[in-house]
Amino acid sequence: MTAWQRLQRMPRAELRALQDSLLQRYVQRYLWPFSPFYRALFARHGVRPEQIRGVDDLRRLPLTQKRDLLPTADDPQRFKQFILQPDPQSLRAAWPLHQQLPLLWQKWTQGSEAVRARLRREFAPSFMTFTTGRSAEPVPFFYSPHDLQNLHTTGSRLIDVLGLGRDYRVANVFPYAPHLAFWQVFFAGIAEHMMVLSTGGGKVMGSSGDLRALGRLRADALIGVPGYVYHLLRRAAAERHDLASLRCVVLGAERVAPGLKQKLRELLAQVGAHDVRVLGTYGFTEARMAFAECPTPDDAWSGYHLYPDFAIFEVVDPVRGEVVKDGEDGELVFTPLQARASTVFRYRTGDRVRGGLQYDPCPHCGRTVPRISSDLTRESSLKDLQLLKVKGTLVNLEDCAMLLGSMAEVEEWQIELRKKDDDPLEVDEMIVHLAVKPGREAAAEQRLRELFKSRLEILPNHVEFLGLESMLRKIGMETEMKERRFVDSRPRT
Ligand SMILES: [Zn+2]
Repeated sequence: MTAWQRLQRMPRAELRALQDSLLQRYVQRYLWPFSPFYRALFARHGVRPEQIRGVDDLRRLPLTQKRDLLPTADDPQRFKQFILQPDPQSLRAAWPLHQQLPLLWQKWTQGSEAVRARLRREFAPSFMTFTTGRSAEPVPFFYSPHDLQNLHTTGSRLIDVLGLGRDYRVANVFPYAPHLAFWQVFFAGIAEHMMVLSTGGGKVMGSSGDLRALGRLRADALIGVPGYVYHLLRRAAAERHDLASLRCVVLGAERVAPGLKQKLRELLAQVGAHDVRVLGTYGFTEARMAFAECPTPDDAWSGYHLYPDFAIFEVVDPVRGEVVKDGEDGELVFTPLQARASTVFRYRTGDRVRGGLQYDPCPHCGRTVPRISSDLTRESSLKDLQLLKVKGTLVNLEDCAMLLGSMAEVEEWQIELRKKDDDPLEVDEMIVHLAVKPGREAAAEQRLRELFKSRLEILPNHVEFLGLESMLRKIGMETEMKERRFVDSRPRT
């Protein structure tokens, strides 16, 4: 594997050549020989593994969709089709002699059991996380010890891109769950021998427990989900905690509303933390790794720095599925280059990126690795309710979320859809529930109506105000894995 220090300064042409050779190797020695799903897919499309010689050849194969992974009536454990499953015969056929020689040598010197243990270290599923999303069945993604090693490596790179010092004490307040975010941070700390306190988030320790821990740890960095980190800092400010040791706040698992960094900075100043960097990260279950923004002055968004030796990203037209030109908007498609256990290929993330991939060196840190624009619409955050027809208009609920999350007056919010008079045949109604800063009700409502009308072309039927504590209960802060931001109360017809 290429050292990160060298890789992050490589010219674009060299990075591309490296990806071409890694892709070729990955397809011929791992994906095609050992993946039941992809071996069948290659056959169906008449593609031989030798035909994938570089990134440009990816388009010979169709995209993989999220629904390809879901259980079907005749295959309730469909996720198994995506696990690399080598056996002695397929290994002998797929691996060139120089790759088999160390195994043969080991068998000769230490016996077959040693060889089996070595192969298990590379391939045996031994850890898992799940895709989130409430409507679809969660899909398990397995890691072999080899993949866990990769999670250490990408963790080290995250720390490096984020610019965290190795002497930093880190408070990880991601929810304790079989989800990538918590574990990516956990393994990053192990890999870099850093002091990381993983509290498990509000549902495990409660915000009061988290705040006590943060104070006692004298944490330099706070890492968590945007909504919960905001809640935690608001409470810290209200209760006059001293968090002056904080130097960096890292947000993950959800898209960050454009105005949120500023709102966080104001709260941080109230708890005595000045000059704090607020940075975003991007990761998803199927990638089994996360990418980060680098430190920038004045809240600039640097984009997420990729690891070209670990994955190839393409941007495709979400309707036609074809690769778009550099810099154009589209959907992110992911292909791993080092994965074992659960493996997807040309995988449609469902995440839309404005401005595509950026290949020019980062203006802030100078790294030459490609970057994903920070202007990203996460599909995963609202799987159930993405585009809703409300009152005849198609509304992207994540756009609503970004608007509300950015409004300085707004503390917490929830959008509810109802039928007028609860009559299934009646028209839709949109209700925005708000908790706002004291005395800002009228101003907040007026601005909300203006923003919704100009940006979303829809007006809520009602804006209803609640006190902060009632609102926190309503959205399930500290009691749910994920806050309830959208509620569809329309009776089923
Ligand atoms: Zn950078």
